[in-house]
Amino acid sequence: MSLVFTFNGRRQIRCLVPFCDKTRGDRKGSALPPHEDFEWICGNHYKAVDARKRQLLTRLRKKGMDQLAHRLWLKIREEALDKGMGIR
Ligand SMILES: [Zn+2]
Repeated sequence: MSLVFTFNGRRQIRCLVPFCDKTRGDRKGSALPPHEDFEWICGNHYKAVDARKRQLLTRLRKKGMDQLAHRLWLKIREEALDKGMGIR
């Protein structure tokens, strides 16, 4: 299911943690990708994820190591979902 939707004519994405009402649109220097099958974790839920994993993800993405970054993203996603259900 895509978490991307259009609000007032602008594309937005919803945080992937269920019942979280945080959304974001394009940001300066960080536009939403053109495809629909990407995911986003809001700041509150992302902060709950192990800091080493977050730092590693940033490094892998900078180096263009997309496959490793994607595998790590799946773990981060799982952790955010696990922890996120208790955080509002
Ligand atoms: Zn969230």
